[in-house]
Amino acid sequence: MTRPTDRLLAPWSAGAAPPRVLVTGGAGFVGSHLTDELLRRGCRVEVVDDLSTGSLANLAPHANSPRFGLTVASITDPAVARRAVAAADMVFHLAGVVGVRRLADAPLAVMQHNLDCTRALLDAAAEHTVPVLFTSSSEVYGDGPVPFREHASVRPGATEGHRGGYACAKAMGEWLAFGHARQSGLPVIVARLFNTVGPRQSGEHGMVLPRFVHQAVAGEPITVYGNGDQTRCFASVRDVVRALADLAVAPGAAGRVFNVGSAVETTVLELAELVRRIAGSSSPIARVPFAEVFPLGFVDPPRRLPSLERLEATIGWSPSASLENVIAEMVEVARAGALTGA
Ligand code: UDP
Repeated sequence: MTRPTDRLLAPWSAGAAPPRVLVTGGAGFVGSHLTDELLRRGCRVEVVDDLSTGSLANLAPHANSPRFGLTVASITDPAVARRAVAAADMVFHLAGVVGVRRLADAPLAVMQHNLDCTRALLDAAAEHTVPVLFTSSSEVYGDGPVPFREHASVRPGATEGHRGGYACAKAMGEWLAFGHARQSGLPVIVARLFNTVGPRQSGEHGMVLPRFVHQAVAGEPITVYGNGDQTRCFASVRDVVRALADLAVAPGAAGRVFNVGSAVETTVLELAELVRRIAGSSSPIARVPFAEVFPLGFVDPPRRLPSLERLEATIGWSPSASLENVIAEMVEVARAGALTGA
């Protein structure tokens, strides 16, 4: 396959051999939706996932697809990374540990694992000159001025603080990706994901929306941390993976960073009320002081708002699903799970 220099993948036409795409972390929440999207677009998809946080159930619908393959292994293993990358035309690198709860409980493991994954993957990609789209995080903006713009400095925070290690590992992954691009011409894109929501997301490690949905459906108190006036912008995972797939074939996208997410701010208290209303729940809203859930000095960003100018200009992207619709779908899934005991 000829490789254009200003984009990661040349578009393919019906009848041509479809590209072979590697998705690291493809059994996870975002990775499995991306796998759905790429298979829908006709790609051949190979997933490498160590199942440490992902689940086989997320990929079950594709088990018998001739265009789908799964290797259960850790991409931190250079031999695994090399083998998987060598067989691919491009890589979506999503493998990594997320979740504020994990970061609060095991900061060292989270930082080390995320760095190890990205380093091994990028080394292998550079060796075989296989383009990479690396999913970074809005966390890299830290407490910078909103709206967050891609060319702004990253602000992972003080090393004596608790939260910045994840952001720093993601930022270091970005530096490594661009280091490879500068040194060997490896085509790379960095996508900074903002809060992403939808079915298959687990609330086990902190994520607010699946927690609120579970609480509302179970009739338990909805736990709003702090006074609930902190804001987040929530995008449907299906819109997010559509943007990632579009970026891979977009001319002029290689070598750049893109914010990916929604630019509609919602306070956490509004979110709790919305979930309660959509679920028809009578759960009380319980305010929980930050000090009761996070270690001392763990900062909860008060606002997180992206500029989407660059994304819109490059792929003409706009979100198609409203937050209300996503919540309604998640409530339905949670109810079905509660009924079946899943
Ligand atoms: N949050 C909350 N109650 C919960 C879980 C989270 O109020 O049960 C808040 C959290 O403090 C943060 C927001 O919801 O302000 C989003 O949290 P999440 O962990 O989903 O993502 P992130 O903090 O990384 O944006």
